[in-house]
Amino acid sequence: MLTQKQMENFAELTVRIGANMQKGQEVVIRCDVNCADFAHLIAEKAYQFGAKKVMMQWRDEILSRLTILNADKETLCEIPQYSIDQSQYYIDHKVCLISISAGNPNIFKGCDPDKLAAMSKASSKAMAFFRKATMSNYLRWTIVSVPTPAWANQVFPDLPTDQAIDKMWNAIGHIMRLDTEDPTAAWQQHIATLKRRAAYLTEQNFEYMHLYNAAGTDLSVGLATDHIWIAAEEEGQDGVPFTANMPTEEVFTAPHCRKINGKVVNALPLVENGNVIDNFSLTFKDGKVIDYSAETGYDTLKSLLESDEGALSLGEIALIGKNSPIAESGILFFNTLFDENASCHLALGQSYPTTVKDGNDLTEDQLNERGMNKSMKHVDFMIGTKDINIDGITYDGKKVAIFRDGEWII
Ligand code: ZN
Ligand code: ZN
Repeated sequence: MLTQKQMENFAELTVRIGANMQKGQEVVIRCDVNCADFAHLIAEKAYQFGAKKVMMQWRDEILSRLTILNADKETLCEIPQYSIDQSQYYIDHKVCLISISAGNPNIFKGCDPDKLAAMSKASSKAMAFFRKATMSNYLRWTIVSVPTPAWANQVFPDLPTDQAIDKMWNAIGHIMRLDTEDPTAAWQQHIATLKRRAAYLTEQNFEYMHLYNAAGTDLSVGLATDHIWIAAEEEGQDGVPFTANMPTEEVFTAPHCRKINGKVVNALPLVENGNVIDNFSLTFKDGKVIDYSAETGYDTLKSLLESDEGALSLGEIALIGKNSPIAESGILFFNTLFDENASCHLALGQSYPTTVKDGNDLTEDQLNERGMNKSMKHVDFMIGTKDINIDGITYDGKKVAIFRDGEWII
């Protein structure tokens, strides 16, 4: 369990390093009703640091489950106008968004995958304008996480709930560097290291990255023209830096969606809508998946890949060393915020316009010309084994070693 002081430090990190809320700004906290205590602590900190107004957008995963089980598909696909208006309000008021991600990873177990897919498609479509506002950094946003009983029970199924939650708090406390003397300073130093690596990779301007390991991954990922490697801190369109994911360990950029070739094998399970996909491989040719297999969750993988044309290609390549605190913990969190920061990963689907130069000023055609992928999906999956090697290949064919045996060597 964290001390009260550590909890306050956590809330402060969320507001100041994460969303980097500015004095006089409106704040929206999006979280499940079971995280209300931490949400209130964040609200308190936000006001303490000068928020104009803090608003809560409550979610209720148990009600969501009941609705999916009982309502028909058409009803599930109806997106009420007030939800759209609410998101538009957030854009108009340039709020900073704080999300607490602590869902029960199994909440949709047994729900009709067809309903889930239809619902997620309808909501992605209706909320495309809002996703654009966050993915292009028009709004500053951050995601943090706290343990909940249902989640902790999934992560530590052999422990009684109390102990499971306790163990998770300890893990998250360490991962969030709350056990250091000065968490803010620890985060600033961590961010500086990641930014140095990102700057180095951007300067190298590799044509593609070559990833290979003993599990069978042998993949060439071409990089988008004029790509930028990003780490930890990003810049909002208003020039104010923020840290979108806390924790974050990754340095990432955009693949070229027509220049990906070879095979990749997953390193950790992928949880999509509460369904696990594991022991899977994808084979790419000229940027698209042309063949795939999965020992677990084949149907879920199939419906993911068939979501739209862009779901067959990649929108992100992210590098994370095996000695990061999340990887070291050895815990499988069943939550992307942690698991994607435990291991090198790729994402099927949409790429971030911020990962190419002047990306936010480019039209869709121009983005496409640079090799940026377009999709309603963005689904990360982990590929970084302890033995993964990664080389950067320059346009004139020079090879530069970036990772050896799962760890950075730059
Ligand atoms: Zn990522
Ligand atoms: Zn991602």
